Amino acid sequence: MYLYNSASRKKELFVPNHPDLVKMYTCGPTVYHYAHIGNLRSYIMEDVLEKYLRYVGYPVKRVMNITDVGHLTSDADEGEDKMLKGAKREHKSVMEIAKFYTDAFFSDCAKLNIKTPDVVEPATNCIDEYIRIISKLMDTGYAYFAGGNVYFDTSKLDRYYIFNDFNAEDLDVGVREGVEEDTNKRNRNDFVLWFTKSKFEDQALKWDSPWGVGYPGWHIECSGISMKHLGEDLDIHCGGIDNAFPHHTNEIAQSESYLGHKWCNWWMHVLHLNTTSGKMSKSSGEFLTVSLLEEKGYDPLSYRFFCLQSHYRKALVFSWENLDNAQLSYRKLIARIAALKPADDPIDESVFAELTGKFKSAMDNDLNTSLAVTALYDVLKAKANDATKLAVIADLDRVLSLSLMEKAAEKREELSRQNAATAAASAGFSIVSESGEDDPAVTEKIESRRAAKKAKDFALADQIRDELKAGGIELTDVPNGVIWKRI
Ligand code: AMP
Ligand code: ZN
Repeated sequence: MYLYNSASRKKELFVPNHPDLVKMYTCGPTVYHYAHIGNLRSYIMEDVLEKYLRYVGYPVKRVMNITDVGHLTSDADEGEDKMLKGAKREHKSVMEIAKFYTDAFFSDCAKLNIKTPDVVEPATNCIDEYIRIISKLMDTGYAYFAGGNVYFDTSKLDRYYIFNDFNAEDLDVGVREGVEEDTNKRNRNDFVLWFTKSKFEDQALKWDSPWGVGYPGWHIECSGISMKHLGEDLDIHCGGIDNAFPHHTNEIAQSESYLGHKWCNWWMHVLHLNTTSGKMSKSSGEFLTVSLLEEKGYDPLSYRFFCLQSHYRKALVFSWENLDNAQLSYRKLIARIAALKPADDPIDESVFAELTGKFKSAMDNDLNTSLAVTALYDVLKAKANDATKLAVIADLDRVLSLSLMEKAAEKREELSRQNAATAAASAGFSIVSESGEDDPAVTEKIESRRAAKKAKDFALADQIRDELKAGGIELTDVPNGVIWKRI
């Protein structure tokens, strides 16, 4: 399988360090607000990667942090702690905010069929780990103490910029618009490993350290958590593209200086989800959440389908129209799968291998999920019995995770209920519910409506229909009766 490596800027044949375990690390959410669907695009693609690795037979251990301390409002070590800001906004404690938004994050992930990583570690759990790494960096001259904080000295590295060919000036965090320069830094890109001095003295969470009471910088958490759970080497590190600089660049700087050798082999970055007016961001203005999609009547899995239709290394533009199209295609796909009849017929192994082979060649080419979705449609068109097609679809869905089999089964049941109701109704005038339930009060009202119609009192008949609708009951007139359902 070939995966694009942001560090080498090319697709490379994936070979893990240890064939018996792929070590994967994913930057997790900063839990001061809900995740927006842009963040979730990154997590969906990382979920697909993990599941595909398992699909092709690799055992995987995946670790993810929860940022509950240290991420400031600017990536350049400036501004207020995002967690503190969230706590103030909601008049709650930092820990309450962290718990609430961590739970909200995993509930959103569950709705999108994103598996929870094997290890989920809050940054506040690993303070000793960070202190150990920072102490060694101080001892070996990679870090220095200035103005109350500990900084990493980027001038000690032969190569600091790993991911970009851009002009170094453009990348200097210290000169970004709206960011004040920290005069304690020896070099503009030096970054804080440990804070004891902050402009915001009411920082809620602080710990003792050899450099004074304070709290860790944002970048050190991912190095510390990864090494705690995955040891001194890593196969794949993932995150959204905004994490490449400075976050991942700084993670590499501190981890490799600490270890004295290469740390991570593959860097995978998911391009952003943008709205038609620009990037979707947690810290500025309105953003779209899974709950909002649900409120508007979308199935969260339509959004997963929407993401899978594009390649993760291309920016994706979100619009309601695009999501409508994805939802429509997703529903049609389910309906087509529902039309296949589950049966105990023998599975045609050669067709199975051919169809799953198409899927694999798409995914082996740097996770081309858009072609993988095409491979799914090819299954529907294939010359094979339904049992074989369903077996392939179930197999592909181990990675795509669109709940295809479950949703198709639901659809089949819905159709058979409708058919049974229509058949019962056509046998004579009858009042039946789509779900098979019996409700004498509803039956009575429908009978009165029938009587009103017979008496040509159509106004009363309509009024009864409207009353039922207002009570959540919808009627469908069929030749010999009425089918009702709850809406
Ligand atoms: P955060 O919670 O802000 O630390 O971000 C969580 C993850 O979402 C990180 O991997 C980010 O790189 C990623 N991310 C942030 N904004 C977007 C976006 N608009 N589209 C895709 N991924 C994003
Ligand atoms: Zn990280």
